[in-house]
Amino acid sequence: VGEGGEITYKKIQSSQIMGSIQLGIQHAIGGLASKPERDLLMQDFMTVETTNFPHEGSNHTPAHHYSEFKFKTYAPIAFRYFRDLFGIQPDDFLMSMCSAPLRELSNPGASGSIFYLTNDDEFIIKTVQHKEGEFLQKLLPGYYLNLDQNPRTLLPKFFGLYCYQCNSKNVRLVAMNNILPSSVKLHQKYDLKGSTYKRKANKSERQKSSPTYKDLDFMDHHPEGIFLEADTYTALTKTMQRDCRVLESFKIMDYSLLVGIHNLDEAQREKTESRKRTDSGQSDDETEGEPKRSGLNRTRSEQVKEDFGTQVKRTQSINRQRLVAHSTAMESIQAESEPIDEEEDVPPGGIPARNARGERLLLFLGIIDILQSYRLRKKLEHTWKSMIHDGDTVSVHRPSFYAQRFLDFMAKTVFKKIPSSLKHSPSKRK
Ligand code: ATP
Ligand code: CA
Ligand code: CA
Repeated sequence: VGEGGEITYKKIQSSQIMGSIQLGIQHAIGGLASKPERDLLMQDFMTVETTNFPHEGSNHTPAHHYSEFKFKTYAPIAFRYFRDLFGIQPDDFLMSMCSAPLRELSNPGASGSIFYLTNDDEFIIKTVQHKEGEFLQKLLPGYYLNLDQNPRTLLPKFFGLYCYQCNSKNVRLVAMNNILPSSVKLHQKYDLKGSTYKRKANKSERQKSSPTYKDLDFMDHHPEGIFLEADTYTALTKTMQRDCRVLESFKIMDYSLLVGIHNLDEAQREKTESRKRTDSGQSDDETEGEPKRSGLNRTRSEQVKEDFGTQVKRTQSINRQRLVAHSTAMESIQAESEPIDEEEDVPPGGIPARNARGERLLLFLGIIDILQSYRLRKKLEHTWKSMIHDGDTVSVHRPSFYAQRFLDFMAKTVFKKIPSSLKHSPSKRK
């Protein structure tokens, strides 16, 4: 955050980055229309297209009021092919990306990346480091191979890789699927790795209105884990095994499983509560469970971010199909249990589950942050410490160690097969 509360990245105002990349993406997608669809060639993974965006505009770029910039589009034909595999029409992609202002998410990660969300909730644009961008470029042929064989996966769906250049600064950006719907209240969010070393949300994270918790917090909140129907459990663990095998083959580690939990029973209670309040003439604000922090110790950006969070109620139907094929958690794991769509204001595709108290949950999840390869990994002190802490000292085996520990944690600690006693608990409707 820069002076005056304006959010900056590499000293460039975030609003300027957002506006400029929308111009860049619009131009890139528009330019593809003249290139006929064809099979992918190896060189399609390596091409980079660069366009200048002068103030006054040019033959093929519009005039604009941002600083002059260059926009690079990596592997445009390859990413068009990927978007096609995911069922995204060029017009739809253009609409999502460029027709409304992007929203900035508060990023709980330590890397300093900025995350933008498209207004329709479909896509996330993340700033990535030079090395990560390079790694994605190298990964593309293997990524393609995997996707072609297995479009149902919890791995991130990449839709584009770009670089915005301004004043000799490079901002590299990856467009991918959004795992967590912002239209539904997520009662809890977790970023899980299967490690316990320093895996606890810090104080400033916990103070947010919708914190992202970590492994130790999860074990604290859900000591018995989260329960899934046997078929769902098997589908989920199988998918994660397949995905981790791919990640291991690329020597990728440090990825997380992002899990958002919507508690249907709690949402029901909240509804009843707020109805009671309205009936007794009390205003919503006075009785809100969470004490409001004073405006003084919240930065403007924090406030903006929170306003864009769960509190924003958008009018568009949230029950519509997701734009991106196979993008919901349920579609990704190919489980076929009956959807819980009795709730009207819940987006489709959440995985039905229960907590230890038998409450009905919907899970939204996916694997994130996969652009850190073992060879490129930053040698931060805490990473070395955590290695020793985890007893993982044989470095050649680290990606496989990481994958195994990740899978073990998910299949044994986080997710459990539903015990029959919970199956017929009184809180289950119908
Ligand atoms: P670090 O390297 O320090 O872990 P990072 O900047 O690489 O951080 P990520 O780990 O990719 O960031 O993501 C940080 C947080 O952003 C996640 O915990 C999650 O809350 C949110 N996030 C990331 N990717 C997605 C996504 N595809 N959909 C929804 N939320 C996401
Ligand atoms: Ca991460
Ligand atoms: Ca990262």
